[in-house]
Amino acid sequence: MWKLSITEEVLDIDRGIREFISDFFEVAINSDANKNSDELRKEVTNGESRIGRVAAATNVKDFIISLAKCPQRNIIKNYYVKLTTKYLDLVDGVIPPPPKLPLKSQSLVREIFDYFYESILNSKTFQKEYIPKYTGPTELKVYLRDIFGTNRKICPYCDIQWIGHADHSSIDHFFPKSNFPLLSIFISNLIVSCTGCNDRIKKAKLLLPLFHPYFHQVADHFEFIFDYECNFIVDINFTDQRDSQVRVINYFEMFKLEEMYASVLYKVREDRRKLRETVKKLFLASNPLDDRERILRNILLEEINNSIAQIILKRGFFDLTKIKYDFLLSLKTSLFETELEYLCSHLKLDNRIGNNSRLEGSTLPDPNKIA
Ligand SMILES: [Zn+2]
Repeated sequence: MWKLSITEEVLDIDRGIREFISDFFEVAINSDANKNSDELRKEVTNGESRIGRVAAATNVKDFIISLAKCPQRNIIKNYYVKLTTKYLDLVDGVIPPPPKLPLKSQSLVREIFDYFYESILNSKTFQKEYIPKYTGPTELKVYLRDIFGTNRKICPYCDIQWIGHADHSSIDHFFPKSNFPLLSIFISNLIVSCTGCNDRIKKAKLLLPLFHPYFHQVADHFEFIFDYECNFIVDINFTDQRDSQVRVINYFEMFKLEEMYASVLYKVREDRRKLRETVKKLFLASNPLDDRERILRNILLEEINNSIAQIILKRGFFDLTKIKYDFLLSLKTSLFETELEYLCSHLKLDNRIGNNSRLEGSTLPDPNKIA
C-alpha cells in the first residue's frame, strides 16, 4: 500500500542485470549462426569480456548459441527492450503486442529466462562480473527478500503480513513469468511480498491497469469507510480521478483485500479501546470542575492527533497502518461527535456513581459491543 523505495544496493543489482542481458543479446545477435556449435562455443566463452567469462562458467554459453541460431533473435531482443523501457505503460494496461514466434522460439525464450531467474542470479561468476560491489549471500533472491524485509517490514501489497525476514516473504513476478518470461529477472518486476499475497492470492492473475508498489502510493488513492462500531468496512471511497478508481477496484480484486480486512478489523477496534482508555484517564487526571465537555473534546482531539502522528511514523513497519490511519481520520471527522457523546456518557456516569456501568436508558451504542 505504501510506495517502496529502492536502495542503492538494489539499483546496483538492477544495473548489473540490465548490462548482463544487453551483453547476452549482443553476443547472440552478432555471432555467426553459420558456424558450427564448437566454433561458436569457443568464441562466446573467450575470457576477454564479462559475458564471455560468465558464459564459460555457466550454461549461458549454450543459450547464447541457441539464440544465435534462432532466426527471430532480433525480434526477441526488440520485444525485450520494448517491455523494459515501457514498463510503466504495461502497468497502465498498455502492453505492446507480442511478436508472433514459432513455438520452438517461444520455448527457447522461456528456457533462457527461467534459467536466468533460477540459476544465473545465484552464479558467483555473474555476481562478480556484473555486480562487483555485491557482498550478499550466494542466493541473490534471498538477499533481495532480506533487504526489502529490512527496509519494509510489512507486505507492500496487503499492508497486513510481516515480511521482515526472508523466511516470511516470497518474490512475486508482478507480470507473471508464465506470460512475460522476458521480465523474469527485471528488477522492477520483482516484488518482495508476503507468501499469502503472492502464492495463494495473486498467483499469475493480473488485472490492469493496476498500482505498482515501486511507482504508486496506493494508500493515497482510496480510504476505508467504517460503521461507528467498526464492525464493517461499509465502503471504499476513491480519493481521486477515474483512472485511479479502476486501479483501486482491480487492486482490491487482485488481492482479495475486502475479505482480508474484514478478518482483521478487531485490531482496529482494539486500538480504539486503548485510545478511549487513555482519553478517560487523562480526563479524570485533569479533574475538571467546569466546562467539562470542552476539556474532554480537546483531550479526545489531541489523542486522536497523537495517534495519527504515531501511525504515520509506523507506515510500512507495522501492520495495518493504512486502515488504522483511515479509522483515526474518520474518528477525527465524521465519527467525532458520536465518539465524544459516547465518552461523555461514560465519564458523567463514572463521576456520579464511581463505576463503569452503563447509563440507563442511553440511546448510545452498547459500549460492550463497541469496545
Ligand atoms: Zn501481502
